[in-house]
Amino acid sequence: MSKYILTIGLEVHAQLTTRSKMFCACPVEYGAEPNTHTCPTCLGLPGALPVLNAAAIEKTILTGMLLGCETPPVVNWDRKNYFYPDMPKNYQITQMPFPLCLGGGVPLGEFDYPKDAQKSIANPGKVVRLTRIHLEEDVGKSTHYDKFTTLDFNRAGTPLMEIVSEPDIDSAEEAFAYLTSLRGILRSAGVSDADMEKGNLRCDVNISLRPEGQKELGAKIELKNLNSMSAVRRAIKFETERQAGCLDRGEKLIQSTRRWDDDRGETTLMRTKEDAHDYRYFPDPDLLPVHTDVIKKRIRDAGPLPEVPKSKSMRYMGMGLPEYTASVLSSTPSLSGFFECATDAWKQVPAVKMANWVSNEFLAKVDIDNFALESLKFTPTSFGEIVYYTENGKISNNQAKEVFAEMFETGKPAAEIIKAKGFEQVSDTGALEAIVEKILAANPDKVAEVQAGNEKAMNWFTGQAMKASQGKANPKMVTEIVRKKVLG
Ligand SMILES: [Zn+2]
Repeated sequence: MSKYILTIGLEVHAQLTTRSKMFCACPVEYGAEPNTHTCPTCLGLPGALPVLNAAAIEKTILTGMLLGCETPPVVNWDRKNYFYPDMPKNYQITQMPFPLCLGGGVPLGEFDYPKDAQKSIANPGKVVRLTRIHLEEDVGKSTHYDKFTTLDFNRAGTPLMEIVSEPDIDSAEEAFAYLTSLRGILRSAGVSDADMEKGNLRCDVNISLRPEGQKELGAKIELKNLNSMSAVRRAIKFETERQAGCLDRGEKLIQSTRRWDDDRGETTLMRTKEDAHDYRYFPDPDLLPVHTDVIKKRIRDAGPLPEVPKSKSMRYMGMGLPEYTASVLSSTPSLSGFFECATDAWKQVPAVKMANWVSNEFLAKVDIDNFALESLKFTPTSFGEIVYYTENGKISNNQAKEVFAEMFETGKPAAEIIKAKGFEQVSDTGALEAIVEKILAANPDKVAEVQAGNEKAMNWFTGQAMKASQGKANPKMVTEIVRKKVLG
């Protein structure tokens, strides 16, 4: 395998979070009854005229700003001509020579890589360069059955942002890290939900292999429409081995497009260069060019740009969080929002303690990619209250976990659960002193051991006091009392 050099470029389609479609006022809504969100424009009826969606253009330019792209002062719209039943006007409106964004790059952080690859990163701190980002419209959705096909035009005309990378990616792991980093940036800016499993982020992979020492790239093989992060990684691995096998046997690879079958874990040929389309791009006469300076100014005037995960992570490290925890908590806006709300509400609790609780206990119960604050039965503030009680010794760590389990199920406040479970720790000095004195009096030999400097004997007393109080004694206070009474 080491005889060959692998080169990968990705084309990512991200659905934008706009309320209406790209060229008409139909709502963008998933899961609606088929063909209920359509109008003459998105059905491609003759004579219907497109109207540009300003929010979609603004979100694309904002994405470009966050990724360090240039936006040319004037951009325009082109028709990509081809016939397909799910696109009835027989052309797709897109941007060819003058897209909204040029250049820029996506930084790959250590924790963007798959977990098992984080220890062996070939190029730490790598930035994958971008070629361009353009805006286009999505097509309808065809569903193929045995003897017929159904068409749903609800998706037709939905704004799609296409992000094209340079062939800078050298491995399946880098492709994974690129998608993770990009997804985090798109989400933090609120421009796309960027969820591959839900289809609002789709990815085509261009992959080529060439023998070491050969300058020109090998034949470009395109893998179409990969729809999960793990599929991208597995498909690249499969395709690298397949192409290496071909080259080993002396076969010539030809430019082609292949489909990934996730169940069988292999790619199959869709078409070769011979049947590539000639799209006959030309400027769309129905749409005027867009002057972008005024839009860029509007974005800048609206306030600071959204904080991308990398800068958020740095800020969290400044609050004392370890790098890994900081990167986990900054990876999605819903998670960082949860953490920051809890921290703001409980300033007495060190941020790092709150962060540990969020990244361990909270993330053990919710899916980091798919949780919504609204779907939780409790608020970040009530979650923070549990951590506060643990910190000030009202309840033990294990009790706190039980309290959280119940809060997660029922949404009841922490104080109510603690009371109902009888978890309140005894922190009344008088009551604790009485318990300790009784134990000391019954165990003079152990007292002597403590006085001789045996720390283990000290712990034994704490254990006895905990037992005598049925686990309710505040262990910190018990240790202090024992120390004071034995050592003076
Ligand atoms: Zn419409």
